[in-house]
Amino acid sequence: MTSKNIVIVGGNAGGGLMAGRLSKMLPKDQVNITVLDKLGRVEFQPSFTYVALGNRTEEQVSKDFTYMGRENVRPVKAEVTKVDAANRTVYTNNGQFKYDILVLSPGVQLNDSKFKGYEDTYHFWDMASALKLRNAISKFKKGKIVISVASPIYKCPPVPWEFSMMLHEYFKNKGLRDNVEITVAHPMGRQFEMFGSNIADPLGDWMSEMKINGHYKFLPVYADPVKHELVGQNNESIKYDLAIVSPIQTAPDFVTSNDDLKSKVGWADANYNNFRNSKYDDIYSIGDVISPTLGMGMAGAFTHFEADTVATFIANDIIGSYLTLPFNPVAMCAMEGGSYGWVAYCDFGKKLKDPAYAFNDCTLMGRGRIYKMLHSVYEKYYYATILRGRV
Ligand SMILES: Cc1cc2nc3c(=O)[nH]c(=O)nc-3n(C[C@H](O)[C@H](O)[C@H](O)COP(=O)(O)OP(=O)(O)OC[C@H]3O[C@@H](n4cnc5c(N)ncnc54)[C@H](O)[C@@H]3O)c2cc1C
Repeated sequence: MTSKNIVIVGGNAGGGLMAGRLSKMLPKDQVNITVLDKLGRVEFQPSFTYVALGNRTEEQVSKDFTYMGRENVRPVKAEVTKVDAANRTVYTNNGQFKYDILVLSPGVQLNDSKFKGYEDTYHFWDMASALKLRNAISKFKKGKIVISVASPIYKCPPVPWEFSMMLHEYFKNKGLRDNVEITVAHPMGRQFEMFGSNIADPLGDWMSEMKINGHYKFLPVYADPVKHELVGQNNESIKYDLAIVSPIQTAPDFVTSNDDLKSKVGWADANYNNFRNSKYDDIYSIGDVISPTLGMGMAGAFTHFEADTVATFIANDIIGSYLTLPFNPVAMCAMEGGSYGWVAYCDFGKKLKDPAYAFNDCTLMGRGRIYKMLHSVYEKYYYATILRGRV
């Protein structure tokens, strides 16, 4: 039997998990798995906020992606520039790759320079920016910090509020909290609105206790580096001494420029049941790059379950008979909340079937110091087990 070529684009959360799963599930002599990644690093992105506050180093939360290599998994550092779906070929800056099955998990493209005045702002949506922000925060002693987002779609929807609470704790521990004003300025109508009122209500109370300001229905259009103001759509402006603004986030260029890969909303095309492309059933897409297509937020929790489902469909394609796993549309988020941690559990099943459904199916599972440990536990677990295909 000739072995099948599986090419995975993106070797981080979704692609790394997929390679580990497939390598475990499929007979070694039946598949060659190639993982293409432009960075060549596996990064635990939920810890970028910790990097920005000096609680983690770059080395603690990222690894060279060759560590996921094994007998039938070949990691190749290469940037994908084009996919020719009709001829099953991926073009990169490091050669061409033929596939029998293609999995896309390239995440989002961060377009920093599309936000006017971005040079006067900071963010933590990638490693280099988190390190730059760390430097700025370590020198910050007094003034206004504003956290905002330059596009309504961005990775990890609750993270602006989570980071505001981490900043509260950071400055409190330094004895500087009274000197620092913290504001979240966001296009939504209230804090943590995406979780529904079961979460938004108590979190609003905690933010009030921490004296964190909320400025809502505000989407900055540009930053004025002279006046140090974020200016919104109605010329409304917010003063800052330090602005943290997520960059405008889109699907990568090789997706947006390809009608075969692109959905109606401009992100990767995939159906909700098995994440196949609607024109080409040998292409699957998972992770952040399909979240806007499905109407979901961008979270590693979804990416994980999508990879689980797709791996079983690929095993079925290759072996001919494999019990496929339906997608589990739930997410459990362990979040930081000042001195405490907290955990939200959400079930997106109804929302995915009916986008008009008024989503509020989240539950606050608990708040306490013990939950602060969950993030660290998961971080260790991620490298030790998940990316090695051990669970
Ligand atoms: C600050 C922050 C906090 C977060 N907190 C949480 C949290 O608490 N809980 C949670 O569930 N999720 C969280 N997330 C979101 C989570 O990290 C993402 O949802 C997850 O990483 C998505 O996985 P992915 O595989 O789709 O994309 P990514 O993990 O971003 O991986 C994409 C990979 O593709 C590569 N790539 C991109 N374009 C190309 C190309 N053209 N050619 C080759 N390679 C390419 C990239 O180098 C990258 O390695 C957070 C994210 C951030 C930034």
